[in-house]
Amino acid sequence: MREAMAGADVGDDVLDGDPTLASLQQRVADLLGVEAALWTPTGCMANAIALMDHLERGDRFLAPAGAHVLEAELGTSAWLAGGLPAPLPHSGGPGRPTPADVTAAAGTAGPYFGLRTRLLCLENTHNAAGGAVTPVAEHRALVAAAHDAGLAVHLDGARLWHAAVALGVPPSDLTAGADTVSVCLSKGLGAPMGSLVAGSAAFVERAWRLRKMLGGGIRQGGVLGAAGHVALDGIDDLAADHEHARLLAEGLAAKGWPVSTPETNIVLVTTSDPAAVVAKLAKVDVRAVPFGPGVRFVTHRDVSRADVEGALERIGGLGP
Ligand SMILES: *Cc1c(COP(=O)(O)O)cnc(C)c1O
Repeated sequence: MREAMAGADVGDDVLDGDPTLASLQQRVADLLGVEAALWTPTGCMANAIALMDHLERGDRFLAPAGAHVLEAELGTSAWLAGGLPAPLPHSGGPGRPTPADVTAAAGTAGPYFGLRTRLLCLENTHNAAGGAVTPVAEHRALVAAAHDAGLAVHLDGARLWHAAVALGVPPSDLTAGADTVSVCLSKGLGAPMGSLVAGSAAFVERAWRLRKMLGGGIRQGGVLGAAGHVALDGIDDLAADHEHARLLAEGLAAKGWPVSTPETNIVLVTTSDPAAVVAKLAKVDVRAVPFGPGVRFVTHRDVSRADVEGALERIGGLGP
Protein backbone atom coordinates (compact mmCIF):
# COMPACT_ATOMS: atom_id res chain seq x y z
CA MET A 1 0.00 0.00 0.00
CA ARG A 2 2.82 2.40 0.88
CA GLU A 3 4.48 1.64 -2.48
CA ALA A 4 1.23 2.25 -4.36
CA MET A 5 0.85 5.56 -2.55
CA ALA A 6 4.39 6.62 -3.40
CA GLY A 7 3.88 5.83 -7.08
CA ALA A 8 0.37 7.30 -7.41
CA ASP A 9 -0.61 9.32 -10.45
CA VAL A 10 -1.92 12.64 -9.07
CA GLY A 11 -3.62 15.86 -10.10
CA ASP A 12 -5.29 18.67 -8.19
CA ASP A 13 -8.67 17.47 -6.98
CA VAL A 14 -9.74 20.93 -5.80
CA LEU A 15 -8.99 22.47 -9.18
CA ASP A 16 -9.71 20.08 -12.03
CA GLY A 17 -9.54 16.53 -10.72
CA ASP A 18 -7.16 13.83 -9.61
CA PRO A 19 -6.97 10.76 -11.85
CA THR A 20 -6.44 8.23 -9.07
CA LEU A 21 -9.29 9.56 -6.94
CA ALA A 22 -11.47 9.65 -10.07
CA SER A 23 -10.79 5.99 -10.84
CA LEU A 24 -11.34 5.03 -7.19
CA GLN A 25 -14.65 6.87 -7.14
CA GLN A 26 -15.81 5.11 -10.30
CA ARG A 27 -14.69 1.73 -8.94
CA VAL A 28 -16.64 2.24 -5.72
CA ALA A 29 -19.73 3.49 -7.57
CA ASP A 30 -19.62 0.32 -9.70
CA LEU A 31 -19.16 -1.91 -6.64
CA LEU A 32 -22.13 -0.25 -4.94
CA GLY A 33 -24.30 -0.28 -8.06
CA VAL A 34 -24.84 3.50 -8.08
CA GLU A 35 -24.04 6.27 -10.56
CA ALA A 36 -21.28 8.12 -8.74
CA ALA A 37 -19.22 8.41 -5.58
CA LEU A 38 -17.06 11.00 -3.86
CA TRP A 39 -13.99 10.40 -1.68
CA THR A 40 -14.00 11.97 1.78
CA PRO A 41 -11.30 11.98 4.47
CA THR A 42 -13.56 10.25 7.02
CA GLY A 43 -16.74 8.27 7.38
CA CYS A 44 -18.16 10.95 9.66
CA MET A 45 -17.78 13.49 6.86
CA ALA A 46 -19.36 11.10 4.35
CA ASN A 47 -22.41 10.66 6.60
CA ALA A 48 -22.58 14.38 7.37
CA ILE A 49 -22.62 15.22 3.65
CA ALA A 50 -25.44 12.74 2.99
CA LEU A 51 -27.51 13.96 5.92
CA MET A 52 -26.92 17.62 5.03
CA ASP A 53 -28.24 16.85 1.57
CA HIS A 54 -31.31 14.94 2.82
CA LEU A 55 -32.36 17.08 5.77
CA GLU A 56 -33.41 20.59 6.55
CA ARG A 57 -33.95 22.22 9.92
CA GLY A 58 -37.31 21.11 11.25
CA ASP A 59 -36.90 17.59 9.86
CA ARG A 60 -36.66 14.34 11.77
CA PHE A 61 -34.72 11.25 10.74
CA LEU A 62 -34.92 7.65 11.91
CA ALA A 63 -32.02 5.32 12.66
CA PRO A 64 -31.66 2.05 14.55
CA ALA A 65 -30.76 2.68 18.20
CA GLY A 66 -27.03 2.85 18.80
CA ALA A 67 -26.32 3.84 15.17
CA HIS A 68 -23.03 5.63 14.52
CA VAL A 69 -24.91 8.72 13.27
CA LEU A 70 -26.79 8.82 16.58
CA GLU A 71 -24.02 8.07 19.05
CA ALA A 72 -20.58 8.62 17.59
CA GLU A 73 -20.65 11.73 15.39
CA LEU A 74 -21.13 14.39 18.07
CA GLY A 75 -24.64 15.21 16.96
CA THR A 76 -23.63 16.59 13.55
CA SER A 77 -26.82 15.05 12.14
CA ALA A 78 -28.63 17.63 14.29
CA TRP A 79 -26.42 20.73 14.42
CA LEU A 80 -24.95 20.51 10.91
CA ALA A 81 -27.65 18.70 8.98
CA GLY A 82 -30.57 20.03 11.02
CA GLY A 83 -32.31 16.72 11.71
CA LEU A 84 -33.88 15.66 14.97
CA PRO A 85 -32.82 12.04 15.52
CA ALA A 86 -35.35 9.35 16.44
CA PRO A 87 -33.87 5.97 17.39
CA LEU A 88 -35.75 2.85 16.28
CA PRO A 89 -35.83 -0.41 18.29
CA HIS A 90 -33.94 -3.48 17.09
CA SER A 91 -37.12 -5.52 16.79
CA GLY A 92 -36.10 -7.06 13.46
CA GLY A 93 -32.89 -8.56 14.91
CA PRO A 94 -29.56 -7.16 16.13
CA GLY A 95 -29.00 -3.72 14.63
CA ARG A 96 -32.24 -3.47 12.69
CA PRO A 97 -35.84 -2.34 13.09
CA THR A 98 -38.75 -4.00 11.29
CA PRO A 99 -40.47 -2.38 8.30
CA ALA A 100 -43.50 -1.89 10.59
CA ASP A 101 -41.31 0.11 13.02
CA VAL A 102 -40.30 2.37 10.13
CA THR A 103 -43.89 2.88 8.98
CA ALA A 104 -45.08 3.64 12.51
CA ALA A 105 -42.24 6.07 13.25
CA ALA A 106 -42.60 7.85 9.89
CA GLY A 107 -46.14 8.78 10.85
CA THR A 108 -48.17 11.01 8.59
CA ALA A 109 -47.80 14.65 7.64
CA GLY A 110 -49.04 16.73 10.54
CA PRO A 111 -49.75 20.45 10.95
CA TYR A 112 -47.20 23.02 9.83
CA PHE A 113 -45.61 23.13 13.31
CA GLY A 114 -44.95 19.38 13.39
CA LEU A 115 -41.55 17.86 12.59
CA ARG A 116 -41.40 16.29 9.15
CA THR A 117 -39.89 12.81 9.13
CA ARG A 118 -37.75 12.74 6.01
CA LEU A 119 -35.08 10.07 6.19
CA LEU A 120 -34.27 6.55 7.32
CA CYS A 121 -30.59 6.02 8.05
CA LEU A 122 -29.66 2.31 8.06
CA GLU A 123 -26.33 0.84 9.22
CA ASN A 124 -24.93 -2.43 7.81
CA THR A 125 -23.11 -3.95 9.56
CA HIS A 126 -24.32 -2.31 12.76
CA ASN A 127 -21.24 -1.54 14.83
CA ALA A 128 -22.79 -1.15 18.28
CA ALA A 129 -24.88 -4.29 17.80
CA GLY A 130 -21.61 -6.20 17.36
CA GLY A 131 -20.99 -6.00 13.62
CA ALA A 132 -24.49 -7.34 13.00
CA VAL A 133 -25.49 -8.04 9.40
CA THR A 134 -28.80 -7.00 7.84
CA PRO A 135 -29.61 -9.64 5.18
CA VAL A 136 -30.59 -8.61 1.65
CA ALA A 137 -34.34 -9.32 1.94
CA GLU A 138 -34.63 -7.35 5.17
CA HIS A 139 -32.65 -4.47 3.71
CA ARG A 140 -35.03 -4.37 0.77
CA ALA A 141 -38.12 -4.52 2.99
CA LEU A 142 -36.82 -1.65 5.16
CA VAL A 143 -36.06 0.49 2.09
CA ALA A 144 -39.51 -0.25 0.65
CA ALA A 145 -41.22 0.70 3.93
CA ALA A 146 -39.26 3.97 4.05
CA HIS A 147 -39.99 4.88 0.44
CA ASP A 148 -43.68 3.99 0.86
CA ALA A 149 -43.78 6.42 3.78
CA GLY A 150 -42.14 9.13 1.66
CA LEU A 151 -38.73 8.89 3.37
CA ALA A 152 -35.37 8.91 1.64
CA VAL A 153 -32.86 6.23 2.69
CA HIS A 154 -29.21 6.70 3.60
CA LEU A 155 -27.15 3.59 4.28
CA ASP A 156 -24.16 4.00 6.59
CA GLY A 157 -22.13 1.22 5.05
CA ALA A 158 -18.83 1.98 6.76
CA ARG A 159 -18.69 -1.78 7.37
CA LEU A 160 -20.73 -2.84 4.33
CA TRP A 161 -17.86 -4.89 2.91
CA HIS A 162 -18.06 -7.11 5.97
CA ALA A 163 -21.79 -7.68 5.48
CA ALA A 164 -21.25 -8.57 1.80
CA VAL A 165 -18.45 -11.03 2.59
CA ALA A 166 -20.38 -12.60 5.48
CA LEU A 167 -23.43 -13.14 3.25
CA GLY A 168 -21.44 -14.05 0.14
CA VAL A 169 -23.24 -11.43 -1.97
CA PRO A 170 -21.96 -8.48 -4.03
CA PRO A 171 -22.04 -5.20 -2.06
CA SER A 172 -24.53 -3.81 -4.60
CA ASP A 173 -27.14 -6.32 -3.36
CA LEU A 174 -27.00 -4.57 0.01
CA THR A 175 -27.37 -1.04 -1.32
CA ALA A 176 -30.44 -1.76 -3.44
CA GLY A 177 -32.89 1.13 -3.30
CA ALA A 178 -30.82 3.30 -0.96
CA ASP A 179 -30.68 6.92 -2.11
CA THR A 180 -27.22 7.48 -0.68
CA VAL A 181 -24.54 5.19 0.75
CA SER A 182 -21.33 5.77 2.67
CA VAL A 183 -18.49 3.23 2.85
CA CYS A 184 -15.15 3.18 4.64
CA LEU A 185 -11.73 2.20 3.33
CA SER A 186 -10.00 2.70 6.66
CA LYS A 187 -11.67 0.11 8.87
CA GLY A 188 -11.22 -3.57 8.04
CA LEU A 189 -9.74 -2.71 4.65
CA GLY A 190 -6.79 -0.96 6.26
CA ALA A 191 -6.29 2.30 4.32
CA PRO A 192 -4.79 5.08 6.46
CA MET A 193 -7.81 7.23 5.68
CA GLY A 194 -10.69 7.54 3.29
CA SER A 195 -14.39 6.93 2.91
CA LEU A 196 -16.78 7.51 0.05
CA VAL A 197 -20.29 8.86 -0.17
CA ALA A 198 -22.24 7.62 -3.16
CA GLY A 199 -25.55 7.85 -4.95
CA SER A 200 -27.01 9.47 -8.05
CA ALA A 201 -24.83 11.70 -10.24
CA ALA A 202 -26.97 14.68 -9.18
CA PHE A 203 -26.43 13.90 -5.49
CA VAL A 204 -22.67 13.56 -5.95
CA GLU A 205 -22.55 16.89 -7.75
CA ARG A 206 -24.10 18.50 -4.68
CA ALA A 207 -21.83 16.43 -2.42
CA TRP A 208 -18.73 18.08 -3.97
CA ARG A 209 -19.99 21.45 -2.74
CA LEU A 210 -20.92 20.12 0.69
CA ARG A 211 -17.50 18.48 1.09
CA LYS A 212 -15.82 21.76 0.24
CA MET A 213 -17.95 23.56 2.86
CA LEU A 214 -16.71 21.09 5.47
CA GLY A 215 -13.09 21.66 4.50
CA GLY A 216 -12.80 18.23 2.91
CA GLY A 217 -11.50 19.17 -0.54
CA ILE A 218 -7.98 17.84 -1.05
CA ARG A 219 -5.44 18.46 -3.75
CA GLN A 220 -2.98 15.65 -4.64
CA GLY A 221 -5.49 13.14 -3.26
CA GLY A 222 -4.24 10.38 -5.53
CA VAL A 223 -1.75 9.44 -2.82
CA LEU A 224 -4.73 8.45 -0.69
CA GLY A 225 -6.74 7.20 -3.65
CA ALA A 226 -3.97 4.69 -4.37
CA ALA A 227 -4.23 3.42 -0.80
CA GLY A 228 -7.98 3.07 -1.36
CA HIS A 229 -7.45 0.93 -4.48
CA VAL A 230 -5.16 -1.43 -2.57
CA ALA A 231 -7.70 -1.52 0.29
CA LEU A 232 -10.47 -2.58 -2.13
CA ASP A 233 -8.24 -5.35 -3.54
CA GLY A 234 -8.45 -6.88 -0.05
CA ILE A 235 -12.24 -7.15 0.36
CA ASP A 236 -12.21 -10.95 0.15
CA ASP A 237 -9.57 -11.10 2.92
CA LEU A 238 -12.24 -9.99 5.39
CA ALA A 239 -13.43 -13.62 5.50
CA ALA A 240 -10.26 -14.45 7.43
CA ASP A 241 -10.99 -11.70 9.97
CA HIS A 242 -14.48 -13.15 10.44
CA GLU A 243 -13.00 -16.60 10.96
CA HIS A 244 -10.55 -15.21 13.52
CA ALA A 245 -13.40 -13.49 15.38
CA ARG A 246 -15.27 -16.81 15.57
CA LEU A 247 -12.14 -18.48 16.89
CA LEU A 248 -11.69 -15.80 19.54
CA ALA A 249 -15.35 -15.98 20.60
CA GLU A 250 -15.27 -19.77 20.83
CA GLY A 251 -12.06 -19.64 22.87
CA LEU A 252 -13.48 -17.08 25.28
CA ALA A 253 -16.78 -18.97 25.57
CA ALA A 254 -14.84 -22.15 26.43
CA LYS A 255 -13.26 -20.21 29.29
CA GLY A 256 -16.72 -19.22 30.53
CA TRP A 257 -16.75 -15.64 29.22
CA PRO A 258 -20.23 -14.26 28.37
CA VAL A 259 -19.49 -13.61 24.73
CA SER A 260 -21.53 -12.79 21.61
CA THR A 261 -21.57 -15.01 18.54
CA PRO A 262 -19.82 -12.81 15.99
CA GLU A 263 -21.44 -12.33 12.58
CA THR A 264 -18.38 -10.49 11.23
CA ASN A 265 -15.17 -9.22 12.89
CA ILE A 266 -16.52 -7.89 16.19
CA VAL A 267 -16.70 -9.87 19.44
CA LEU A 268 -18.61 -8.40 22.38
CA VAL A 269 -18.23 -9.49 25.98
CA THR A 270 -20.81 -8.50 28.59
CA THR A 271 -19.39 -7.37 31.90
CA SER A 272 -20.41 -5.09 34.74
CA ASP A 273 -16.94 -3.49 34.81
CA PRO A 274 -15.61 -2.90 31.26
CA ALA A 275 -12.68 -0.74 32.40
CA ALA A 276 -11.40 -3.43 34.79
CA VAL A 277 -11.66 -6.13 32.12
CA VAL A 278 -9.83 -3.99 29.55
CA ALA A 279 -7.07 -3.26 32.10
CA LYS A 280 -6.74 -6.95 32.95
CA LEU A 281 -6.46 -7.83 29.25
CA ALA A 282 -3.89 -5.09 28.65
CA LYS A 283 -1.65 -6.69 31.28
CA VAL A 284 -1.43 -9.81 29.12
CA ASP A 285 -0.99 -7.74 25.95
CA VAL A 286 -4.49 -8.19 24.57
CA ARG A 287 -6.09 -4.98 23.39
CA ALA A 288 -9.84 -4.48 23.64
CA VAL A 289 -11.97 -1.39 24.30
CA PRO A 290 -14.81 -0.58 26.69
CA PHE A 291 -17.92 -0.58 24.54
CA GLY A 292 -21.37 0.28 25.90
CA PRO A 293 -22.21 -2.19 28.64
CA GLY A 294 -19.27 -4.44 27.77
CA VAL A 295 -15.97 -4.88 26.02
CA ARG A 296 -15.31 -5.01 22.28
CA PHE A 297 -12.65 -7.01 20.45
CA VAL A 298 -12.10 -6.42 16.72
CA THR A 299 -10.14 -8.68 14.42
CA HIS A 300 -8.48 -7.16 11.36
CA ARG A 301 -5.83 -7.78 8.72
CA ASP A 302 -2.94 -7.26 11.16
CA VAL A 303 -4.24 -9.99 13.49
CA SER A 304 -3.40 -13.53 12.35
CA ARG A 305 -4.87 -16.82 13.47
CA ALA A 306 -1.69 -17.39 15.49
CA ASP A 307 -2.18 -13.98 17.14
CA VAL A 308 -5.69 -15.01 18.25
CA GLU A 309 -4.42 -18.35 19.55
CA GLY A 310 -1.62 -16.56 21.39
CA ALA A 311 -4.06 -14.08 22.91
CA LEU A 312 -6.31 -16.89 24.14
CA GLU A 313 -3.29 -18.61 25.67
CA ARG A 314 -2.18 -15.45 27.48
CA ILE A 315 -5.73 -14.81 28.71
CA GLY A 316 -5.52 -18.31 30.19
CA GLY A 317 -7.72 -18.59 33.25
CA LEU A 318 -8.42 -14.85 33.61
CA GLY A 319 -12.13 -14.40 34.17
CA PRO A 320 -14.15 -11.57 32.60
C1 LIG B 1 -16.19 4.04 11.76
C2 LIG B 1 -17.59 4.26 11.35
C3 LIG B 1 -17.99 5.47 10.77
C4 LIG B 1 -17.10 6.68 10.49
O1 LIG B 1 -15.88 6.67 10.87
P1 LIG B 1 -14.67 7.71 10.71
O2 LIG B 1 -13.87 7.36 11.89
O3 LIG B 1 -15.21 9.08 10.70
O4 LIG B 1 -14.02 7.36 9.41
C5 LIG B 1 -19.31 5.59 10.40
N1 LIG B 1 -20.18 4.60 10.59
C6 LIG B 1 -19.84 3.42 11.15
C7 LIG B 1 -20.86 2.36 11.30
C8 LIG B 1 -18.53 3.21 11.55
O5 LIG B 1 -18.21 2.03 12.08
